[in-house]
Amino acid sequence: MPGQVFIDRYAQATGARVALALVNDLVITPTQPAAEILEQVFAFDPESVADRPGQRVEEMTALAHRLRHVIEAMHVGDVDLAASTLNELLAEAPAVPHLVRSDDGTWSLHHHPQRADFVLAWTSLCAEAMALLIGEGHADRVHLCAAEDCGRAFVDTTKNGTRRFCSERCQNRVKAAALRRRRAAQAQR
Ligand SMILES: [Zn+2]
Repeated sequence: MPGQVFIDRYAQATGARVALALVNDLVITPTQPAAEILEQVFAFDPESVADRPGQRVEEMTALAHRLRHVIEAMHVGDVDLAASTLNELLAEAPAVPHLVRSDDGTWSLHHHPQRADFVLAWTSLCAEAMALLIGEGHADRVHLCAAEDCGRAFVDTTKNGTRRFCSERCQNRVKAAALRRRRAAQAQR
């Protein structure tokens, strides 16, 4: 199923994964101090770790809030709003595609100057990854969890595109609560 492969690729792009992690962990359900969350989100990337993400709390939280607006707009089907917000971010932090030669002589395409500012680089990477989802026709795959006490953002990579919850945990919890309500209603009759 080619559509499936493509949506997986965009959903798993580094910029998309980081965008969702920032929105979920900094804005929607923060469970730790922001500095610690940032250190964890970027622990996978040695270059970012060297930039000390925990020291950029204010700017990264502002970015997370703007990405949350984008995701909320996508969730309710307002693609125009999501696109214009992403265009603002991309204009503030444009990508600079260029080839970088590694030690073994191979060249790879990078999108940021080697010493790009941490916040600008990730603004660009996150915005570009979310923009790709829209540009490739997957705007309707970005959602907020339907569980009232959750609301975490996710990309629906299922074949049918009918996923409503961020996780099986939320799905089971909501189903169990609905079942309890039905049983309680029956018991009252
Ligand atoms: Zn959830």
